[in-house]
Amino acid sequence: MKKLLPTSTAGSLPKPSWLAQPEKLWSPWKLQGEELIEGKQDALRVSLGEQQLAGIDIVSDGEQTRQHFVTTFIEHLSGVDFEKRETVKIRDRYDASVPTVVGAVAREKPVFVEDARFLRQQTKAPIKWALPGPMTMIDTLYDSHYKSREKLAWEFATILNQEAKELEAAGVDIIQFDEPAFNVFFDEVNDWGIATLEKAIEGLNCETAVHICYGYGIKANTDWKKTLGAEWRQYEEIFPKLQKSSIDLVSLECHNSHVPMDLIELIRGKKVMVGAIDVASETIETPEDVANTIRKALQFVDADKLYPCTNCGMAPLSRTVARSKLNALSAGAEIVRRELSAS
Ligand SMILES: [Zn+2]
Repeated sequence: MKKLLPTSTAGSLPKPSWLAQPEKLWSPWKLQGEELIEGKQDALRVSLGEQQLAGIDIVSDGEQTRQHFVTTFIEHLSGVDFEKRETVKIRDRYDASVPTVVGAVAREKPVFVEDARFLRQQTKAPIKWALPGPMTMIDTLYDSHYKSREKLAWEFATILNQEAKELEAAGVDIIQFDEPAFNVFFDEVNDWGIATLEKAIEGLNCETAVHICYGYGIKANTDWKKTLGAEWRQYEEIFPKLQKSSIDLVSLECHNSHVPMDLIELIRGKKVMVGAIDVASETIETPEDVANTIRKALQFVDADKLYPCTNCGMAPLSRTVARSKLNALSAGAEIVRRELSAS
């Protein structure tokens, strides 16, 4: 029988200090060339081992293979000039120096396919692989070529679809697209954001997920969250259309957030990765905290469609904190599993 409440993480896990500066987001690699390739593989093995030790059911590379969840992917594409940088406002929130689109974008070779194949060789457990979503990609660039956010998003969707098909062939079970931008640009999400996401998953047979969060626990995000008021109803703007889309899973921020849990009702029928671990706090959740979040979500998600998860990635946390949070996630899910099998 299929295990109820399979656990996973939304994305990144801390990197070992010999690979990149820990507790720092987007920190540069400490190795180069062949050493870097080997270092990333070793870190992937360690990260996988930690997930397995904690009893996480759907495992990932812990994003040991990338420095940044968007730019590492873009680095592999042609048409983008990384030397030519412009300052843009990311998700209407913080300024960042980003590369410029200077010509037609194209994927000349696979980006993460070898890494995914390597992960596949290490485990028989279901594996999930994260890619940036089209809308979040265009929001992390300056475009001097297409001069249309929508046009560029469609180009990226085509490129992501090529990559996703090869990830599927490499044995990935769930391909996840990270779309934090979905929480900000509601009109665009409804006009073309979800449509470009569907283009990215076109023709795939593996499961597909979209991760929509309120971001890492960095200051720009926590300051933004303070402006959102007592109830965070952003999901309400996009869920009706998302519910009708062909995406299989939706990964959400729930624990310690101000998102009213009943909004999940709007995507009834989808599998929901319920964020039951707060990644913006060093406080370790108790298994009972996790169980409580899962129980609340169970009012709006059928038990066979609920996937306990983290709110977002844990890269900026210490390894000890991240490990303890993984253990809490597992233990909390197990409490509810036992309750469900007893009833
Ligand atoms: Zn996230």
